[in-house]
Parts: sequence; C-alpha cells; structure tokens
Amino acid sequence: MEPADDDLVGLDNLVANTAYLRAQQVDYDELRKRRVSLTLPKPKNSSGLLLDRKYESVCEQQPIGRKLFQEFLLASNPQYVAAAEFPEELSHWRFAEDEAREKAKRSILAKFCQPESKSFLSYLTGEAAEICKNLSNKNFDEEALEQIKEATRDFLRGKPFLEFMKSPFFYRFLQWKEYEKQKITNKYFYEFRTLGKGGFGEVCAVQVKYTGQMYACKKLDKSRLKKKGGERFALLEKQILEKVNSLFIVNLAYSYNDKTHLCLVMDLMNGGDLKFHIYELGERGIRMERLIYYTAQITTGILHLHSMDVVYRDMKPENVLLDAKGQCRLSDLGLAVELPKGRTICQKVSAGTTGYMAPEILKQENYRISVDWWALGCSIYEMVAARLPFKDFREKVHNEEVTRRTLEDECKFEHKNFDDPTKDLISRFLRKKQLHRLGNVIASHCDCV
Ligand code: ADP
Ligand code: MG
Repeated sequence: MEPADDDLVGLDNLVANTAYLRAQQVDYDELRKRRVSLTLPKPKNSSGLLLDRKYESVCEQQPIGRKLFQEFLLASNPQYVAAAEFPEELSHWRFAEDEAREKAKRSILAKFCQPESKSFLSYLTGEAAEICKNLSNKNFDEEALEQIKEATRDFLRGKPFLEFMKSPFFYRFLQWKEYEKQKITNKYFYEFRTLGKGGFGEVCAVQVKYTGQMYACKKLDKSRLKKKGGERFALLEKQILEKVNSLFIVNLAYSYNDKTHLCLVMDLMNGGDLKFHIYELGERGIRMERLIYYTAQITTGILHLHSMDVVYRDMKPENVLLDAKGQCRLSDLGLAVELPKGRTICQKVSAGTTGYMAPEILKQENYRISVDWWALGCSIYEMVAARLPFKDFREKVHNEEVTRRTLEDECKFEHKNFDDPTKDLISRFLRKKQLHRLGNVIASHCDCV
C-alpha cells in the first residue's frame, strides 16, 4: 500500500468528521437518556420460546451469541477454556505465515497436545484423542487438526452448551435479542456528511447513537424510484444485501423506510473507490503488488455472490470501495439478480456499463455468471493500464463501436506494466466464448462433480 495515497484520503475524512463532531454538542440530559436506553430490556417469555435454540445458530452463526458463549467458556473450568482457545489458535495458525506460523504451531503442540499441560484437550475421546496425543512437528497437518476441531465442536455442543443455556450469559443473549426487536427509524442514527450521490438519492455517513458505530446510509428517494420505475431493483438490492455475509462485499447492517425514503445502512467505506485510485492518485494505474491484493479480494467477493446464485453484473473499479485500512469490498448491488436454479437469463435491455459488458450481454444471448468474470478481466486490465481493453481513457466513442470492438477485436496489451502472468490471466477472463472463460470453466467443472 502507498501510505501517501491513504494519508490524503484519511486526512480529508478526519477534517470533515471532526467538524461534524464538534458541531454536535452533547448535553448531560442527552447523555442520561442514552444511558437509560442502553439498559437492556427484560426478555419476554414468548420471545425466548420463538428463538432458534440450535447450537449452530446460537453459538456459531450469531455474533452476539458466539461472543457470549466464548465468554461463558472462558469463565468456566480449564477444560472449557481449552475448548474455547483451541479453535482460536488453530485459525491463527491457518492464516499465519513464515515465522509466525511456526510459532503458532509450537504453541498448539505445547498447550493442547501434552497431557501434563493444563490446557490439554482432555475432553477428546476415541480416534480424536489418539490423534491429539500423537501430534508432532512431523504429522501436524490440516486433516488431523480438522478432526480435532470437529471433535471439539461435538464436545461443546453437548454439556457445555446445555450449561450455557442455564447461565446468565444466555440470559444476556436473550436480552440482546429483545433489544434487536426495536423498530429502527432515523432517530436511531446521527446523520453526517454526504459521501456520494447515486441514481436515486445520496449516500451519507451515519452513526448509531448508542454505540458510536459509523455506517454509510444509502437513501433512495421513493418518488424518484417511482418515476423511473426503480422500485423493483431497489427491493431486489435490499433482498440480496440481506443475504450477503462477506468481508469483501459491503454488507447491510440495517434498513428502514420513512414517508420519503428507503434507507439502506451499510459498512462505511471511506477510502474512495478504485476508479479514483486508478486515475486520480499519483501515477495512473495501480502497482502490481496492490493490484494482486485487490484482485484476490474482489474475486472472493464475486465468488460469494455466485455461491448464492447471484450475478453481480456491475463489476467495475468504480463500484469497488476501499475502507480506511485499504481493504476493498464490492458495492452497489443495484443491478445484481438472483439466477433461477440451473437456468440462464437473458434480457432485452443490456445490463451493465459500457466497456465492461461481456459479448453474451451485447449479443443478447443467455448467460449466468460468466459476465462477472469478463468484467473482472476488464477491471484488472484497467488497474494496470488506466484504460479499458476496448475503450481508451476519455475516448469519445459510440457505444456501438465499443460493442463492435468487444465482439470482433483481439485485446491488445500495449502498456509497459503488463507482464506475462497478468496478460495470461486477463486473456483467460476475456475469452469471447463463455464456456472457454476462466471462472466459468471452473464453475461448469464444479457442476459436474
Ligand atoms: P447507485 O446505485 O445509485 O449508483 P451507489 O451504491 O453506487 O448508488 O452509491 C453512490 C455513491 O455513494 C458511490 O459512488 C460512493 O461514492 C458512495 N457510497 C456508496 N456506498 C458507500 C459506502 N458503503 N461507503 C462509502 N461511500 C459509499
Ligand atoms: Mg453506483
């Protein structure tokens, strides 16, 4: 990452946000009211009964439940503490590199696999117990560890989970569930500056009054939606966002509507979009090191959508937003659609942005996810060369000509920053036939397995 770029964006944000914060004088009465509303409500009997009480749902999938279950384990006995710590250290080992990975491995072996250690995984039985005791530098592999992890889950699902459900930690969980049920309105947030403008209204920064958490709020103007027939897409965007759960897509935190607007409250990304980074910051284009990093994040985001049978259809650097730390996420699912199971779609009106649309969209043929991989190829090309494969930067050209080039011309790599692996990758994404395209080849292969 280039610190200079980020500093600039960071500084702008800091100045703007400080001005807002200063403009907001908090009085003591307001503070008292906030404290009162922070007191968690008593859970109602009926709400407890309706709750999904499965271990997976309560202790793994729901962040509040996961956190409270973890706290419960750490406050119980050494055996439970070990069962809580082992998966954490395992995931640390999985993601660590080089020296840190070696260190994580040594720690796991010493802490959890030695019978004399107080964190020894003494709850394991049968095969898993044998594997654990015999684990050493030599046979320390993914498969063995996964087996121990599964056995740990099985253990936690039993007695520890039952005890948790009778503990004050679970009562606290029910309180949070009750709290979650309150109706969200604009009173829940402070509204800050405008971050950007979209087709149906502005996007502004908001802060949850009682936690201080910052978000971006996309306010869709209902009368404008109605005039331009955008209601269907707005609703679809909301429905898809509700299902999304990925570190590489802008996730939805809340949604609400008032008389005039439909509001989508999402992860705040205040590092600007990738288009801005390509064209406006320093030398045009993005350095290879960062480009690879962004491409990996974008690809993971696209794969997440595809795993839910959603095609994004608007992949382009402008829609990739960066946060303050330089991590990126896909945003603007306004054109995304859910694919009918096992069927292709085709639309009379081409969906997408000129320069990024795949041949099959331009020819109004049927397609599924292939169009996203084409657009990713165009976007990688653009990150390197600061122009599109079939359209030069600021070139005044008719859409028909871009269409013709897309369908007929071979992609040329004239920019000095193209190296062989990058050219190879882009060419694979820019195969004109869907079936030969990278991403699509993998997907159709997976279908057969
Ligand atoms: P539209 O679908 O109407 O194009 P977008 O979702 O693209 O609307 O949002 C419009 C603009 O608002 C974006 O170009 C971006 O500058 C800003 N924006 C959108 N989402 C966020 C976010 N999560 N964080 C920060 N800025 C955002
Ligand atoms: Mg947009």
